[in-house]
Amino acid sequence: MKRTSFFSLLACFGLYITLFTSTVGASHSWGNYHWARTSNPFTLKLGDNLSTSWDSYLTTTSNDWSASSVLNTKIVPGVVNPKNCRGTSGRVEVCNSKYGNNGWLGIAQIWTSGSHITQAVMKVNDTYFNTTKYNTPAWKNLVMCQEVGHTFGLDHQDEIFDNSPLGTCMDYTSDPTPNQHPNQHDYDELESIYTHLDGFTTIQSGTQKLPLGLSIAEGVQYDFEKRSEWGKEVRNNGHVALYERDFGNGHKFFTHVILAQ
Ligand SMILES: [Zn+2]
Ligand SMILES: [Zn+2]
Repeated sequence: MKRTSFFSLLACFGLYITLFTSTVGASHSWGNYHWARTSNPFTLKLGDNLSTSWDSYLTTTSNDWSASSVLNTKIVPGVVNPKNCRGTSGRVEVCNSKYGNNGWLGIAQIWTSGSHITQAVMKVNDTYFNTTKYNTPAWKNLVMCQEVGHTFGLDHQDEIFDNSPLGTCMDYTSDPTPNQHPNQHDYDELESIYTHLDGFTTIQSGTQKLPLGLSIAEGVQYDFEKRSEWGKEVRNNGHVALYERDFGNGHKFFTHVILAQ
């Protein structure tokens, strides 16, 4: 092999590695799902159905995510019963309760129509958070921050439990201490997800009920607390999991889970 072609081959290979790793590193959305809106930054309401002991964690998370250039979150009074925490169109309902020994520490549940998010709920399970292991600011911040992050369309940056923490709440590791807030990579990913604008919105601005056309089966009478209601398991590594239920007509329902150990 001639020296020049060897070096150009090497250069090509280097470029390939660079492109490949930057592609892997850059994307952590869970499937191009996003809230439809006609301008940026948009404001997403977080309905506070929390007991007072959780309020400061929601405030921290809301402030953290609002540092994004494309979105703001606004804490508003909740309108649902935290025990079943059913969805409200165009916003996120945030709830805590003793949901029982059901295996999950926290879940984020997101309803989609096509590629657009239409409503979301997130629940933190006090059955586990009342135990010594999880009743810490670090665990509460991590779970609150990560589940709210999922409701924007973000996925985990990393799912390996025992590697060194990445310093973002979208990482799940054995030590939550360094992972209580978003990092720059999360903000970059949000910018990438929300670069384009839509011709309509799925976000509730006033108090209007959005005509989203959800069927009864899609959320009016169900709590969606049980695994059997979450549809097919997309992935589950024993620490975090994702489920997908297809309602038909382009409507889907996703459940992101942080499992209690
Ligand atoms: Zn869109
Ligand atoms: Zn998660």
